[in-house]
Amino acid sequence: MHGRPDKISATGPEQRFTGISASAGYARGPLFRFEAGAAKYVPSASPALETGTLKAAINKASARLAELIASTAGEAAEMLEFQLAMLADDSLTDPALASIEKGFAADEAWNDALAAEIAGYESSDDDYFRARAADLRDIRQQVLDALTSSESVSAPPGAILIGNDIAPTRFLATDWTQGGGIALSAGSSASHVAMLARSRGVPMVVGLGPLPDHDGIALLDAEHGTLLLCAGSEAAELFEASAKAFAGRQQRAQDYLRRPAVTASGTPVRVQVNIADPADVESIDISTCDGVGLMRTEFLFGKAGGLPDEDTQYRAYRKVLEWAGGKPVTIRTVDAGGDKPVPGFTVEEGNPFLGLRGIRLSLARPDIFRVQIRALLRAAIHGNLKVMFPMIAVPEEYGRAAKLFAEEARSLAASGVAHAMPPLGIMVEVPSVAIAPELFANAAFFSIGSNDLTQYVMAAARDNTAVAALNSVTNPAVLRLIEAVATFGHEHSIPVSLCGDAGGDPASIPYLLKAGLRDLSVVPAQLALAKAAIAEAEE
Ligand code: PEP
Ligand code: MG
Repeated sequence: MHGRPDKISATGPEQRFTGISASAGYARGPLFRFEAGAAKYVPSASPALETGTLKAAINKASARLAELIASTAGEAAEMLEFQLAMLADDSLTDPALASIEKGFAADEAWNDALAAEIAGYESSDDDYFRARAADLRDIRQQVLDALTSSESVSAPPGAILIGNDIAPTRFLATDWTQGGGIALSAGSSASHVAMLARSRGVPMVVGLGPLPDHDGIALLDAEHGTLLLCAGSEAAELFEASAKAFAGRQQRAQDYLRRPAVTASGTPVRVQVNIADPADVESIDISTCDGVGLMRTEFLFGKAGGLPDEDTQYRAYRKVLEWAGGKPVTIRTVDAGGDKPVPGFTVEEGNPFLGLRGIRLSLARPDIFRVQIRALLRAAIHGNLKVMFPMIAVPEEYGRAAKLFAEEARSLAASGVAHAMPPLGIMVEVPSVAIAPELFANAAFFSIGSNDLTQYVMAAARDNTAVAALNSVTNPAVLRLIEAVATFGHEHSIPVSLCGDAGGDPASIPYLLKAGLRDLSVVPAQLALAKAAIAEAEE
């Protein structure tokens, strides 16, 4: 936090808004509404002029993106490059140009062309697909801004940006060196911006509902997910104390990053990382973790240009295995479906969380599944690969998937292609598995997916702010299942880890350790804090 203006509250009663923390931290500053004041586009009467205007606006937006790319690195730069490539893609721009030919104005034509693209992705809360919808909304806005020549106004230093949802380019163009934060009426903790905010330590809360304008200093507690306006002195003092404690924990956590994780009572705990894009590993020092506990592969399947071929997948998996240098890398077969639609692969369903997703879909489409299996078998020779299946509910699914692995291994052997058979494990995220783990004793390992396990046990969707309080991994019912799985694994020598978000949550870690877990996989941004929380636990 930076800056301490004297006046905390504007006049009026204290107002508290509650949402979901997307990036933990504290910010104290003026509110800045970044969506206000869009200028109106004035069309010409000629389609030829409109075509020229739209093309010029696309070029202007592309030039601005290129400028941002030059000052950005890593995953964020890749995301901007994706946007730049989309702007150069005729399949995105051609429908807009065709609409102009039919008499539509440039802004209307552009809006409509992008609306169709965006709609397919908008309802998803999955990292990859929501991020893509956000990217498309971002691109749409950038071109509209270029059409109206409305340059976006910069937020004052240390401000808390409020709005419905925030574009990644707006995030990247904002100067966060003086502090500040983000408070969104809607948004998602799985969005690209949320990932950026976590990696840069910018406090962010989503799902706050409608927010009023306010001219005093606002208090954003993005550790617990609240925004406070017109704070009274008691609430303001509490806020300062929590912010100070958080800063202290952050500072101390850095000391733990380079050490192996051990509890206060001396129990060693393995801490691995969760990744998606192979590029994620570039910013992680392998010596600070025990390997990759979960590599989500949906990222590869959500790319423009169709489903990934065997070689594209092989290269992605190999890159991560080589980076890990012999430490285990657990790659999950594609968990498409449900909230993660993949055009050309998934089907439309009324109740997607309970539908054809994960291993169910892979087994329904063996033609696609076999391609991933071959890529994994070939990549296995480059490191310490483990493979796991998502959304397993009955033992037959494991048996069928393992059989496909055996068949593809035989066929690779017959063709003389180098490969190796990795240990095959399962995600424990459907309650049927957690309740009767003995039916799955032939799996090589269990990895508890606490995100889905919690939502299915509590009947509270993981992406619905209205039921966020119910969606709690520390509910005794969820913890009892986790403990039962950990105990079963221990008694039968089946390794058990946990790769849901709870593994990186300092508040949940003591409960998970008490439940008997000794292997957690966390998002890289939480690695230091998770290790620090383990060091303070008494288990
Ligand atoms: C989980 O459900 O906890 C999990 C790790 O899988 P995902 O979040 O990808 O569904
Ligand atoms: Mg899951």
